[in-house]
Amino acid sequence: MSHSISRRDFNKLLVTGVAGASLGIFGTSNNAFAASKRVVVIGGGFGGAAAAKYLKKLDPSISVTLVEPKAAFYTCPFSNWVLGGLKTMDDITQTYTVLKNKYQINVIADAAVSIDPARNAVKLKNGSTLNYDRLVVSPGIDFKYDAVAGYSEAVANSRIPHAYQAGPQTIMLQKQLLAMRNGGRVIICPPGNPFRCPPGPYERASLIAHYLKEKKPQSKILILDAKEKFSKQALFKQGWEKLYPGMIEWRSSVTGGKVVKVDAPTMSVTTEFGVEKGDVINIIPPQKAGKIAFDAGLTDATGWCPINPISFESTIHPGIHVIGDASIAGAMPKSGFAASSQGKVAAAAIVRLLQGKVPAAPSLVNTCYSLIGPSYGISVAGVYKLTAEGIVEIPGSGGLTPLNADADQLSEEASFARGWYNNIIHDTWG
Ligand SMILES: Cc1cc2nc3c(=O)[nH]c(=O)nc-3n(C[C@H](O)[C@H](O)[C@H](O)COP(=O)(O)OP(=O)(O)OC[C@H]3O[C@@H](n4cnc5c(N)ncnc54)[C@H](O)[C@@H]3O)c2cc1C
Repeated sequence: MSHSISRRDFNKLLVTGVAGASLGIFGTSNNAFAASKRVVVIGGGFGGAAAAKYLKKLDPSISVTLVEPKAAFYTCPFSNWVLGGLKTMDDITQTYTVLKNKYQINVIADAAVSIDPARNAVKLKNGSTLNYDRLVVSPGIDFKYDAVAGYSEAVANSRIPHAYQAGPQTIMLQKQLLAMRNGGRVIICPPGNPFRCPPGPYERASLIAHYLKEKKPQSKILILDAKEKFSKQALFKQGWEKLYPGMIEWRSSVTGGKVVKVDAPTMSVTTEFGVEKGDVINIIPPQKAGKIAFDAGLTDATGWCPINPISFESTIHPGIHVIGDASIAGAMPKSGFAASSQGKVAAAAIVRLLQGKVPAAPSLVNTCYSLIGPSYGISVAGVYKLTAEGIVEIPGSGGLTPLNADADQLSEEASFARGWYNNIIHDTWG
């Protein structure tokens, strides 16, 4: 998704940073110069936890409060590895202990229910109110359940999981795979763009195939896609042919992939070309920004949040920075790595804005590893800069695993994927 802005607007973006800074200093407190500045962060996932930690690292005098209802955060990265039997739920569980104890972040285990941008206030479910000089919102995604007839949150929680927010949904899908008969059929239905983690559904198909090949080798996987093509397509397809020949079938939106209806009682989906039955069905519905972003009026007609790409400050409500999957970040994919990069950019911008300075134009980065088998990894990387067109990938900056990579290189990529996970977890929650 790319939102272009005129050169005049681009220049204006640079100065709104200064206007925003004055709001942070003079806007909320008569005594704001003397008191320590207060930043509230909503959401303790990849974006929010990184922003909270880096705010404290960059300026320990800032009072940082992180609002997150979950005591333990299950990472979506590596949740497909759980489905493939390569990791456990414990392996993908992160807590806020280090952020609390080492970084002195005030972690509140509650949900934000409303934001009052005029009063710089956040209301929590427990009834209390938090005031802020700057607010960071990183609520991740919500699902457009009604985009697929017959699908709903109730169906997702009882019979046909999306497993696109890691946790109980991952466990449900894993249990269904464990219970499935040898010779069963798994149907995976990825959505159209944009959505969280573009390679995610295809890594999922790969690692489910790994599990089935070992335990239930007569089984098949059918991917019914709402898109014509997908991320790292040639690499995935090559990997499937090498590791799981004849096991995974992918149908694009032009060859009958787009699912228009789900029927949980008969475990079937209807596409434009007919009805398909599955033993296990995984619907990944189209997505939008997390609910609080909608309730606070931070979204536009796309269902995502427009931001000033220098600081990730909302172009709708000054003083509020929206990062991660919920934001419209130009060419950057919706990934944990991207959310973390944006959390750091927002933290650095906020520190400057609170000091009355102009934020520096950021350089942003993303790498997405996917595992096709335990020793078969692939990756795509990109470096992004700010132009009048918004956030664009620097031509030639990226990298993709070559199609002719040998077994050693693919095994090294799998090893780098494990290293990537350990690093980002340490950088964000450790
Ligand atoms: C299967 C799968 C595999 C993936 N693999 C990778 C990968 O290998 N690499 C990668 O980079 N990315 C990967 N991703 C993508 C990555 O998980 C997301 O892009 C990332 O989590 C986005 O970060 P975020 O901060 O925007 O949202 P999240 O990490 O989802 O965090 C949002 C947090 O906000 C909290 N929240 C929501 N509403 C409120 C509220 N009202 N009050 C308080 N808190 C609230 C939620 O509880 C949640 O903890 C994967 C995703 C999936 C689904």
